[in-house]
Amino acid sequence: MKALEFVIFDLDDTIYPRRAGVMQAIGTRIHRYVVERLGLDEEAAMLLRQDYLARYGTTMRGLIIHHHIDPEDYLQYVHQVPLADLLSPAPRLKAVLDNIPAEKVIFTNATREHAARVLRTMGIEQHFTHIVDVRDMEYQSKPHPAAYRQLLTLLDANPQACLMVDDSARNLRPARELGMITVLVGNGQEDGVDFVIEEIAEIGEIMRQLLLEGWKVGKREG
Ligand SMILES: [Mg+2]
Repeated sequence: MKALEFVIFDLDDTIYPRRAGVMQAIGTRIHRYVVERLGLDEEAAMLLRQDYLARYGTTMRGLIIHHHIDPEDYLQYVHQVPLADLLSPAPRLKAVLDNIPAEKVIFTNATREHAARVLRTMGIEQHFTHIVDVRDMEYQSKPHPAAYRQLLTLLDANPQACLMVDDSARNLRPARELGMITVLVGNGQEDGVDFVIEEIAEIGEIMRQLLLEGWKVGKREG
């Protein structure tokens, strides 16, 4: 029988919708970091961020490789955003998570402190057994394949027993190549993923569909 043991959630723009504005606030902090620490003007900073994002998946990865920045200094700086003003408790999502009997995991290019603050603000922190963050990935952010290998090692998980949900189709590609079920959230239609949903609470519908398809959903036995 096909068994689903882990549901793996991206954090930013996945667990809450993009319209919340958290990533926009973080983006503003990233921009200021690049301007201040590298001494660039506004336009040069913007071009540099676009270039690193395209080449490495995150600005941070490019800053580490080319400017030898201290990742901890960077992470601390960029996550100083007023989460309590941007996010609120999410009772509907909480109910959906309650009904998913598999282990729930956060897999994020941010820090576990930022993830924990987001989950706490939304009132859903107790649902997650693991937060796998950018330090756990040794700063090799998604979509670098090493990040996914590290995730599977830390969870001691078989990729065929995992479902991953992310707002980035690019981040889902390596997961699908490993054999995970992939769900794109909040980003329209996309080839190359198994399911597309508009917002995260719809993950409950995906679970029902998998059960109908004969999947057994639950924590690993023994
Ligand atoms: Mg995201």
